[in-house]
Amino acid sequence: MKTQIAIAIMVTILCAAPAFAQQSLDAMIDREIAQLVSTYKMLHASPELSHYEAKTSAFLAQQLRTLGYTVTENIGKYENPLWQGHGVIAVLKNGDGPTVLVRSDIDALPVEEKTGLPYASTVKTKNDAGQEVSVMHACGHDIHMTSLLGTAKMLWQLKGQWHGTLVLIGQPAEETIDGAKAMLAGGIYSIIPKPDFILALHDSADVEAGKVTYCAGYAMASSTSVDIIIRGVSGHGSKPEATKDPIVIAAETILALQTIVSRENSPLDPAVVTVGSIHGGTKRNIIPDEVTLQLTIRTYKEEVRQHILSAIERIARGNASAAGVPDDRMPIVKVIENESGPSLYNDPQLSERVAVAIGRTIGADNVIKVSPLMASEDFGRFSLDHQIPSMMFWLGAIEPSRVEASRKSGKPLPSLHSSLFEPLPEPTLRTGIKAMTTAVLELMKK
Ligand SMILES: [Zn+2]
Ligand SMILES: [Zn+2]
Repeated sequence: MKTQIAIAIMVTILCAAPAFAQQSLDAMIDREIAQLVSTYKMLHASPELSHYEAKTSAFLAQQLRTLGYTVTENIGKYENPLWQGHGVIAVLKNGDGPTVLVRSDIDALPVEEKTGLPYASTVKTKNDAGQEVSVMHACGHDIHMTSLLGTAKMLWQLKGQWHGTLVLIGQPAEETIDGAKAMLAGGIYSIIPKPDFILALHDSADVEAGKVTYCAGYAMASSTSVDIIIRGVSGHGSKPEATKDPIVIAAETILALQTIVSRENSPLDPAVVTVGSIHGGTKRNIIPDEVTLQLTIRTYKEEVRQHILSAIERIARGNASAAGVPDDRMPIVKVIENESGPSLYNDPQLSERVAVAIGRTIGADNVIKVSPLMASEDFGRFSLDHQIPSMMFWLGAIEPSRVEASRKSGKPLPSLHSSLFEPLPEPTLRTGIKAMTTAVLELMKK
């Protein structure tokens, strides 16, 4: 009988353990949430453009240092010597065990905020071209930073439940997709041990606050920026026979580029070739020297990306050749490396493990599997070509009634990067902190 009672008590304790842990995490977040919401509002009202995140990174560093983390600042090396690296690395060593890296991005966008919120940004600054632009955290990187700070605090307090080395990083210049590359060039993996796992979250503009969504496997596409300079032989608009008209060659090239995805690529390998800009000529009666096309290429697989790049070169040259352009005026195809980034691959095993753990904390119904996107992120770079298992999950950030109304009416909500993007701070931060703390504990638990 005594044994039966003892077993019954044990079972009760074991079954209750996750609920108890969850309640205590909720209680811990309750104690911090007011302060975190005001930190979020402060960050929201003081955004900084990519490559210029000096104040934001200093604030993040100071906060993490105050919490007891060992902080290294100004990590990052860009090709442009005028840009300073504003990467922040915070380390908490807690005995032997795995190294887990959690990344938040820290930069904002040249967008004029139109939400009308009391803490809306009114910041204006000069961009690289010297033009005055408004600045807004229109992608929610302020939510990511505040979630990182909340997670940092929770994991400090929960040190007895995990072991290993926790690394939290503030990554600059995500929007220009060169910040992760700059942190790697700045030697992040010589400052910290190479992680065993890498995690990040990104807010979602069409999912309710309180929910998390994720995608296992390829989750976001690689992005490659390409310029094609189509060169001709200029002359008078009334005398086409004496010219090689780059405007006509550009028109034919643009149409021919559409056949790369439709005719040369497997339908099972998603890919996009978009010509987003075309510039050429000055006047109706002048056939110009050249026309410039600007393209973005999106793929999941690297081999698909390589094939598309070689097809672009072949088609551009082929069209110029067919038009009789001399060999020394063949088109120039340039890949803009500092504006390109790899695809984001969520390690399937890690993704399912983390999703199940988060489900235990916020409710399995609130963790939803979604399809991949052709949008891009530079978070994938930290995985060193998928060598290190990594995962980014989506954090619902919108007032649930607005999501419901949008589903009913079919009217889309303001997207990420919109001047009207409006995350709901408190429940979004609560869920972000809970989800990320749980994910780290799952990977580093004793
Ligand atoms: Zn963005
Ligand atoms: Zn973003």
